[in-house]
Amino acid sequence: MTEVVILGAGLGGVIMAYEIKDKLRGGGNVTIINNGPTYSFVPSNPWVAVGWRKTADVTVELAPILAKRDIGFRPEGARRVHPEDNRIELNDGTELSYDYLVIATGPDLAFDEIEGLGPEGNTQSICMVDHAERARTAFDELVRKPGPVVVGAVQGASCFGPAYEFAFVLDTALRQAKVRDQVPITFVTPEPYVGHLGLDGVGDTKGLLESAMREHHIKWITNARTAKVAPGVMHVEEVGDDGAVKAEHELPFAYSMMLPAFRGVAAVAGIDGLTNPRGFIQIDKHQRNPAFPNVFGIGVCVAIPPVGKTPLPVGVPKTGFMIESMVTATAHNIAALVAGEEPRAVATWNAVCLADFGDSGIAFVAQPQLPPRNVNWSSQGRWVHAAKIGFEKYFLHKVRQGKSETFYENLALDLLGVKKLKDIHIEPAE
Ligand code: FAD
Repeated sequence: MTEVVILGAGLGGVIMAYEIKDKLRGGGNVTIINNGPTYSFVPSNPWVAVGWRKTADVTVELAPILAKRDIGFRPEGARRVHPEDNRIELNDGTELSYDYLVIATGPDLAFDEIEGLGPEGNTQSICMVDHAERARTAFDELVRKPGPVVVGAVQGASCFGPAYEFAFVLDTALRQAKVRDQVPITFVTPEPYVGHLGLDGVGDTKGLLESAMREHHIKWITNARTAKVAPGVMHVEEVGDDGAVKAEHELPFAYSMMLPAFRGVAAVAGIDGLTNPRGFIQIDKHQRNPAFPNVFGIGVCVAIPPVGKTPLPVGVPKTGFMIESMVTATAHNIAALVAGEEPRAVATWNAVCLADFGDSGIAFVAQPQLPPRNVNWSSQGRWVHAAKIGFEKYFLHKVRQGKSETFYENLALDLLGVKKLKDIHIEPAE
């Protein structure tokens, strides 16, 4: 029997398990390894951080669901992948062998690269649900004792949508608590302009986001390198187009949430041929690692080069729809290999994002990622908030049901009027 192992039970890994199980039609065993027993819906973390959701609302106990689908589950987590011997060492000292491995570990959060950054230092995070819970406690304290807020992302980050989203969600939550008038908000970002998003803008994201920030009284600093974070003071260097420092800012804060840079997780970092210097999984257009062709990568853990040059490092986002298309392509390709055929499915890697403001929001679609594009569209409205709630409900329903339909294909793309987007492209057989 073919053994397929999936490393990581996040947004990509869980649906990967469901899709490959369906595709192999009983002709293979599927096992998923995760750090811990639960799935957690990361896009809801901004809401957890202001008390609009509880952790229990957005997490799912995986063991019973996976057992029902006859998918093996190892919640011990992986210590190290050994691709040259097709095996994985788990944190409890046991090992698992595979014929095909799909790496879906998401990011390691590089807080240690900046002094004072992160929940163990002086800023909050919304990258994990337990971080978001802690950020909620700090938010409650902010409501009790209002003061300045600094929100944004540091140099090397690749996830700007959630940074903007959180600035607007915070603005809404502080207005609801009737203390917004005592909380000046500054948005700090390494992007060369507001709305760049690691994609050199999509449609008019620059105009839409600048105008929304003006309307919501959020000031911003772009081309901003976060030098260090002391208790209550962020030290920021603003650089020019040549990368030279043109201004230094000391930003006092009562509350701060900054997204860190991402890198690959320790279990795969530094494996020659598998990962790049930052620890991201190297893949070809079939999601397959060139050095170890029975290993595939999906989601935030894969290496994607930046879109053009910027004065400070700005990464490309890997959003839900893009990840779902990577999953579908990988399921096709592994099934083809098992059947003795060549992999032919190519994920389109379209960037679709809904950035919620709490009462309204901004949506964008970039197809393909690199400009010039066939679809380069952004829009603002109350419907975005509703669509994001739909995304959460539908995705959690899908995980709980053990089903692998694609949310964006079925609902969001209809709403966005871009149904013509395909999730994958199948190359003709030679
Ligand atoms: P993850 O969902 O992070 O899952 C990785 C899994 O791997 C985790 O369960 C982790 O425990 C596990 N793992 C890690 N290391 C190991 C190991 N050694 N052994 C075993 N398991 C391991 N995208 C959107 O499209 N819309 C949004 O609204 C949106 N909001 C976001 C908000 C935030 C705050 C962030 C950070 C991202 C957001 N994204 C959003 C981007 C993206 O969709 C999510 O980050 C998504 O969760 C990425 O999926 P993933 O499967 O790659 O990684």
